[in-house]
Amino acid sequence: MSAISPANGAAAPIVAETVVIGAGPCGLFQVFELGLLGISAHVVDSLQHPGGQCAELYPDKPIYDIPALPVCGAQELVDRLLQQIKPFKPQLHLGQEVVEFAPREGGRFHLATSAGVTFDAGAAVIAAGLGSFQPRRIGVEGAERFEGGSILYRVRNAAELAGRHLVIFGGGDSALDWTLELLPKAASLTLVHRRSEFRAAPASVARMREQVAAGRMRFYEALPQALIVENGTLRGVNVRAPDGAVHALAAEWLLVFFGLHPKLGPIAEWGLALEKRALRVDTEKFQTSVPGVFAIGDINTYPGKKKLILSGFHEAALAAFGIQHHLYPQKKQFLQYTTTSPVMHQRLGVPD
Ligand SMILES: Cc1cc2nc3c(=O)[nH]c(=O)nc-3n(C[C@H](O)[C@H](O)[C@H](O)COP(=O)(O)OP(=O)(O)OC[C@H]3O[C@@H](n4cnc5c(N)ncnc54)[C@H](O)[C@@H]3O)c2cc1C
Repeated sequence: MSAISPANGAAAPIVAETVVIGAGPCGLFQVFELGLLGISAHVVDSLQHPGGQCAELYPDKPIYDIPALPVCGAQELVDRLLQQIKPFKPQLHLGQEVVEFAPREGGRFHLATSAGVTFDAGAAVIAAGLGSFQPRRIGVEGAERFEGGSILYRVRNAAELAGRHLVIFGGGDSALDWTLELLPKAASLTLVHRRSEFRAAPASVARMREQVAAGRMRFYEALPQALIVENGTLRGVNVRAPDGAVHALAAEWLLVFFGLHPKLGPIAEWGLALEKRALRVDTEKFQTSVPGVFAIGDINTYPGKKKLILSGFHEAALAAFGIQHHLYPQKKQFLQYTTTSPVMHQRLGVPD
């Protein structure tokens, strides 16, 4: 990790007390614990929505080991955490990965996101879970040339797909939702999925099958095999069916929804002590090998670590005190109860 000074002419960074990397359950609860101590936070997540694994991997599944909630849906937990941190007005920067991290002078930190947002932060909390969620790629030769161009893993501008020949890959909700959304606007649309069963909502699958039966779109049970490219332009894709037959599908755009997988990504390059691809922390304040940089939740490791939401919540509480000490070393620390503390009531917006 090498120190940086702000580049001449670069946009001024956001000056933040704390930046939290990751808006999973632990990152969100970190905002709460910091807020109780009067410390504000910016939160960055590569996903378009907060909630980390809970929202991305199992939103409809019940969780049974959140204290005092005998059962709580995973998305419901995220919604409750968002409600709980509302009084502290966290600034969420979603759909962008933290790609740069370096110490600045004066014990502060420089962070930059893939969207070009930069921070000058007093402290950083890495709550990056299993890593940053990345789309699973199409995996055919030469695809990288077209990724972000005519091969999309995320639709940012549906208008550019109107009147176009589209092939959509995938069998989950994203694939089916975009199929139904784009079908009335596309010149032609073909859905390709590796098997005939779908993970998507049954109602969406039924609607898609109706459109196929009515001849408005095509469906192939197949896997992508090779791109069809003419003079450097994507013209379509060959797909291979389970019986070995290869079908050539004409397309101007391929939309690939094979889901997301977490990748530790740039965090491994930031010079912080790692152990088995997790950040080593102390158990007093969950600080990493660099003072002022804390790590909580699934991303950290210490003797006895258990990757549970409950553990991450505890870590967030102690990290908040560590951060307070790092930011304001002169400040006397004392424990207050939310039940009785007037200053905490004020921060929470609770009338006394
Ligand atoms: C199917 C399933 C069931 C589970 N059931 C339970 C259960 O019953 N009880 C329980 O306690 N735990 C359960 N877990 C585990 C629990 O979900 C995790 O412990 C928890 O999500 C960890 O929270 P986190 O905030 O540390 O990380 P995550 O939830 O992984 O969130 C981390 C976030 O950081 C973001 N991120 C990472 N790197 C970057 C970067 N460089 N820039 C920007 N953003 C980044 C990611 O996009 C992600 O959104 C379950 C997990 C799964 C998969």
